[in-house]
Amino acid sequence: MMKDLLELTTHCIRCGFCLEACPTFVTTGNEMESPRGRIYLVRSALEGRVEWQEDVRPHLDHCLGCRACETACPSGVEYGTILELARDKVEQDKPQFTKLTLLNSTTKPSALRAQLALGNLLPGKRMPGFISKVLSGHSAEADLPTPQKADTLPPLNLANLTPIRGQVYLLEGCAMRVLYPRVHEATRRLLRRVGYEVLDVEQGCCGALHAHNGYVDNAKRLATELLLSMPKEIPVIVNSAGCGSTMKDYENLLPDTAGAPKMAKRTFDASEFLFNNGLQDVLQTANGIAVRATYHDACHLAHGQKITSQPRALLEAIPHLDLVPLPEADMCCGSAGIYNVLQPQMARSLVERKYANIASTLANVVATGNPGCHSWIAQASKEHGQSVLVLHTLELLEAAFIGLEHFGN
Ligand code: SF4
Ligand code: SF4
Repeated sequence: MMKDLLELTTHCIRCGFCLEACPTFVTTGNEMESPRGRIYLVRSALEGRVEWQEDVRPHLDHCLGCRACETACPSGVEYGTILELARDKVEQDKPQFTKLTLLNSTTKPSALRAQLALGNLLPGKRMPGFISKVLSGHSAEADLPTPQKADTLPPLNLANLTPIRGQVYLLEGCAMRVLYPRVHEATRRLLRRVGYEVLDVEQGCCGALHAHNGYVDNAKRLATELLLSMPKEIPVIVNSAGCGSTMKDYENLLPDTAGAPKMAKRTFDASEFLFNNGLQDVLQTANGIAVRATYHDACHLAHGQKITSQPRALLEAIPHLDLVPLPEADMCCGSAGIYNVLQPQMARSLVERKYANIASTLANVVATGNPGCHSWIAQASKEHGQSVLVLHTLELLEAAFIGLEHFGN
C-alpha cells in the first residue's frame, strides 16, 4: 500500500524550522513557496478548501524537490513523499503531455541522443525556445549539454591492484550513460582499485525522474523492469544521486514487490561503497593532485541519502589536494532533474548564487555527485569565463591516480 497523503501532512507541526533551508523560500520570502506553506496547501486541497490546479499546482511546480526541508525538519516530515504523491495527483487530474514527452525522451538513451543531435541542428546553444515556452512560459536558460567522449582514459595498470573479491552491478542510468560516459569509466576503475568488478547487464531507467515529477505509475513500471534486470543478490552501485535516492526508496515506491526492500538495501552510492571498502587507504598510494578543490552536495545525496561525509573524506584523502569548504554547499544549484527546463528563472537565480559561492572559495575544481548539477554548474562556469573545472567526485578521485589532464571538460 502506498502511503496516505493526508496522513503524511498531519506530521507537520508548522514550527517553521525548515523555512531557512528552503531555496525557494529564501529566494522569494513567500510562505506559499516554503515547505510549510506547500504542506498546508496540499492538506487544504485534500480537505476541499482550495483548488488543486489553481491554488496548489503553481507552488508544487516551483518546488525543486531538493528535500533540504527534510534534513531541517525536527518532526521527521516526509516531504519528498508528500511532494511526489501530490504531484501525481495534479498530473493525473490534468496531465502535461509536453512534460511527459520530455521525461520519456530524457529517460531513454537512444531518444536522448536523438534529441541532442536534433537540438544541435538548430541555431543557438540553448534548448529550443519553443519547447521552453510551452513548458515554462519563459525563454530557455539551460544549454543543450555536450556529451563527454567515451573511452578516453589510459588502460588501467593491473599490477599491484587489490585481488578481485566480489562483483557488483553498476547502474548506467540515462543522462549519465549519454552525457558522462567518462564518469562510468572512472567508477569502474575505482571499484576495481578496491577489488570489485562490474557485472554488465542490459538495464533501463530507474524511474527517478518520473517519480519526482508526478508520474508514479510510469516510475513503478520502470523500477519493476530494473529490478528484473539485476536478479543477483549483489550490490548495485549508483553514481547519480537522484537515481540512488529513488532506488533506496523502492520499498515505498513498490510496496507490494518482494524484491524492492532488498534492492533498497543493496543499493549504494558509489562514494559510499568506495569509502566502505577502503578507497581512502588505496588513495595513499596515488600520486595525488596539487589543486584547490571544493565540493557541492547534490541534494539527493545530502538530503535524499544523508551522504555528506564519505565523499569529503575520500577527497581529503587525495595526496596534495587542498579541499576547501563551500558556503551553502548543500543548497540546491537549481538543476533538480528537469527543473531548470521547467522553471528556468528560479533555476538561473540559484545557479548564480551557487557559482558566486564557488568563486568565493578560489577553488580551481568543484566536485559533485549528480549529472544534473554537473552540467548546470559547468554551464555557469563557462558563462563566467571557465574559471572553475567541474568534475564528478569520482572523476576527481580517479584523477588522483592518473592525473587531472585526462579530465578536462
Ligand atoms: S520543519 Fe517540519 S514540522 Fe516544522 S514546519 Fe517544516 S515541515 Fe513542518
Ligand atoms: S524540497 Fe526544497 S524547494 Fe521544495 S519545499 Fe523542500 S526545501 Fe523547499
